[in-house]
Amino acid sequence: MRPINVVILGGGFGGLAAANELRENLPQDIRITIIDKKDWFMMDLVKLWIINGTREFELSKRPLESITKKGIEFVNEDVMKIDPIGKLIRTKYRQFHYDYLIIALGVELAPEKIPGLKENSLILYDINDVPKIRDTLRQMKSGKIAIVITGLPYKCPPAPFEAALLIRSVLEETGASDSVTIDFYSPTPITLPAGGPQVSEEIFQILKSKKIEFHGNHKTIEVEPNKIKFENGETGFDVLISVPPHKVPAVVIESGFAENGKFVVVDKTCTTKYENVYAIGDVNQIMVTDKIAVPKAGIFAEAEGVTVARNIISQIKNELENAIFDGKGGCFLETGKGTAGYLQVDMFATPDPLTRLQSSSTEHFSEKEKFEQERLKKWL
Ligand SMILES: Cc1cc2nc3c(=O)[nH]c(=O)nc-3n(C[C@H](O)[C@H](O)[C@H](O)COP(=O)(O)OP(=O)(O)OC[C@H]3O[C@@H](n4cnc5c(N)ncnc54)[C@H](O)[C@@H]3O)c2cc1C
Repeated sequence: MRPINVVILGGGFGGLAAANELRENLPQDIRITIIDKKDWFMMDLVKLWIINGTREFELSKRPLESITKKGIEFVNEDVMKIDPIGKLIRTKYRQFHYDYLIIALGVELAPEKIPGLKENSLILYDINDVPKIRDTLRQMKSGKIAIVITGLPYKCPPAPFEAALLIRSVLEETGASDSVTIDFYSPTPITLPAGGPQVSEEIFQILKSKKIEFHGNHKTIEVEPNKIKFENGETGFDVLISVPPHKVPAVVIESGFAENGKFVVVDKTCTTKYENVYAIGDVNQIMVTDKIAVPKAGIFAEAEGVTVARNIISQIKNELENAIFDGKGGCFLETGKGTAGYLQVDMFATPDPLTRLQSSSTEHFSEKEKFEQERLKKWL
């Protein structure tokens, strides 16, 4: 008899969490395969540490090949087509049959959606631009840094604020802080809408205490050399650091999973409209209220990966478990000089999602370091 195949598209946060949960709980004759176009994994949060000079990319990434030690197969190829009727995945050179499929392909960055953005800004979320941001900051003596969020939703809502605070820290170290202004532009009226008004105000005050001016309701329409055009005006800059619009990976749209280019809409079980196909992490959209969706964050991708893995395990073992994603989690808000706050989140609390910001401390920063190290050790 043909072995059961569980295929996971994407060896990022969600894919690695799911693969490990499956492998730990299923017999070795069940095949588990991860397909990823990259051959390495690094948590996105390390990008911030590359910017402040405490980490290097080459020393921080881990080879995905190491999951093969655990009996998880790894295929380093680009996924070109998902066929949910024939239960097939096509890459450039091969095709794979699946019995269970987990789509964990994350998002694609789409700077091209804003004219001039790619040419005139350094992209905070792009690993190729991150070392350029580090070097630019170290050389800067005076001028204006603009940090701009250009599209919603974007990954890890607090991350651009952490970046602003770390940038201020770097400037304090280089002695340029008094002569460099930092302005933060966002299309949202408050800093962190998913966190609610109180947490947003707290973040606003932290930014203010570090002379970072937050400008809400600024929707970017175009960027020119040294000028950003918003729907409601324009501003100049010397260095522009941007969070570009995000889009659903092309293969997910072309394979019919994303209607009208939207992220894959699923409920708390992450099941899609196709049999035995799940979508987890940034590639999906789980609505909490008619206006608020679960934020795109690694901690949620991980929890969704474990939820889906448990349901696949129970189906294969004919057990009755029916796990659902509980929307609870937390993430760190790094504030510079080895300190961080902690945002505790319960997305499905009633009547509204609950978010609390615990104040900044060196302990929270140590927990953030541990957060990365523990997962690397467990997953790879
Ligand atoms: C600067 C920054 C800081 C962050 N900090 C935090 C934090 O502190 N805490 C937190 O919880 N989250 C944080 N996040 C968010 C977090 O990184 C993402 O939400 C998380 O990575 C999502 O996991 P995922 O598995 O859905 O996607 P990803 O981790 O992005 O994985 C997707 C994988 O799919 C692969 N892939 C895509 N398309 C294809 C294809 N066609 N063929 C083959 N492979 C493909 C990619 O190569 C990638 O490996 C941060 C993000 C950023 C940018």
